Amino acid sequence: MEVFYTSKELKSRLSEIRTQGRSVGFVPTMGSLHSGHASLLHLAKSQSDAVVLSIYVNPTQFNNPDDFASYPHMLQDDLELAQLLEVDLVFVPETKDLYEGVPSAMPVDYGRLTHSFEGAKRQGHFDGVVAIVRKLFQIVQPSRAFFGEKDLQQLAVIRELARREFEDLEIVPCALIRDKDGLALSSRNVRLSPVERTVALQLNRSLMRLKMAAAKGLGGVLALNTEQLELKNTPGIDLEYLDVIDPETFQTAEPDRWSQGHAVLAVNLGSVRLIDNLFLGE
Ligand code: AMP
Repeated sequence: MEVFYTSKELKSRLSEIRTQGRSVGFVPTMGSLHSGHASLLHLAKSQSDAVVLSIYVNPTQFNNPDDFASYPHMLQDDLELAQLLEVDLVFVPETKDLYEGVPSAMPVDYGRLTHSFEGAKRQGHFDGVVAIVRKLFQIVQPSRAFFGEKDLQQLAVIRELARREFEDLEIVPCALIRDKDGLALSSRNVRLSPVERTVALQLNRSLMRLKMAAAKGLGGVLALNTEQLELKNTPGIDLEYLDVIDPETFQTAEPDRWSQGHAVLAVNLGSVRLIDNLFLGE
């Protein structure tokens, strides 16, 4: 495994790899790797000749400075896991290599994709995501890039970015990975107290009940309101949103379309913000 700390050295190595006719698969992350990231890397290995993993906590996608300051950093553990997973190249850039001067991001307007739900609750978040992913795509020039359905709206935004600016690049969606008890894996989970972690199990339970309602043809305003109330009334949970959407447009899904929709939610548990989602169809 080769580790690169500058884009210049990485680009030069990647151009050798491409000259040999080898395909490059790319998995961008913010590190503190867990089994969710490992599943992306595993899929990337199976579909590429050389896999690039990037580890960079991107300042411009954080709307909350405390969240940025407390984001976990575990570089040595991450490198050990990457080695075990037989990742070929790891890119650990410094901010000054990616941004000139003070890091900033241009506004991005992909309609509801960038302005609803996560885009509405985290002002500027997708501006930062698009800015960093665009820069990384330009550096790595992969033929495939792998993104988790855990961040369903981010996946839709990146697909739109690729459609507009990187037409030869294939965006590969990867299934959301959960802990045995149902909690969606997230690097932020390490910041949950034991009590908060138990409370967090309500998220998956609410999503599962919506899926059951949809399967019985009972999807609709009543089922949604019941779960919204359930979460709002759970001590410790501050509900930001729970809705059912079309995953391509992020329009709210009409109840008769729930079987093609995803339930999406965001909550705050103490100082930790969690998101989750579930496909409501078969
Ligand atoms: P992050 O390091 O949180 O920015 O995530 C890097 C990539 O891993 C993104 O494409 C995420 O969607 C994906 N990812 C994070 N958590 C999970 C999970 N539990 N299951 C599947 N993919 C995930």
